Amino acid sequence: MSNILAIAGRPNVGKSTLFNRLVEQKKAIMDDESGVTRDRHYGFGQWTGKYFTVIDTGGYVMGSDDIFEEQIREQVKLALDEASVILFMVDCKDGLTDMDMDFANILRELKKPVYVVANKADNQTLDLQSAEFYGLGLESEIYPVSSASGSGTGDLLDKVVEHF
Ligand code: GDP
Ligand code: MG
Repeated sequence: MSNILAIAGRPNVGKSTLFNRLVEQKKAIMDDESGVTRDRHYGFGQWTGKYFTVIDTGGYVMGSDDIFEEQIREQVKLALDEASVILFMVDCKDGLTDMDMDFANILRELKKPVYVVANKADNQTLDLQSAEFYGLGLESEIYPVSSASGSGTGDLLDKVVEHF
């Protein structure tokens, strides 16, 4: 059985930033202006002696809101089908958006372990605000992290690697 961790979520929430942190060697190419990941989507990570493949699904979401649903059905879902565990990333600074809700509905149907990762929890205020993502109605606890600094990612990974 392969251990495959997919990072999903709408553009610009920080998926590639977390991907780069998890895989240690940088294999995704980041574009700060568009949030588009252009190149490699796969990397390899390790935590407490557990090894896993990481997929940055962001590379498949190229467009604006109106084609988002089509893109997700045809492309992201293929990547998510491969995954054994999914990190669903949202953004504490933006708060809960309609696109997050749409994404959550798709993830719910997959019936796979989903962890809600509330990124950009750069300070205590944002960390506390992350509780609003319980409004997504997913079973997951909310894991506030800052992918930029790495804070919170250890607690998240401790839980995730229990599946591996
Ligand atoms: P993606 O489109 O979901 O892959 O998002 P990116 O990883 O490309 O990040 C989008 C933007 O958010 C970039 O400008 C990142 O530097 C920024 N970003 C990522 N993580 C954090 C974080 O923890 N805190 C803050 N403040 N910014 C972040
Ligand atoms: Mg990206």
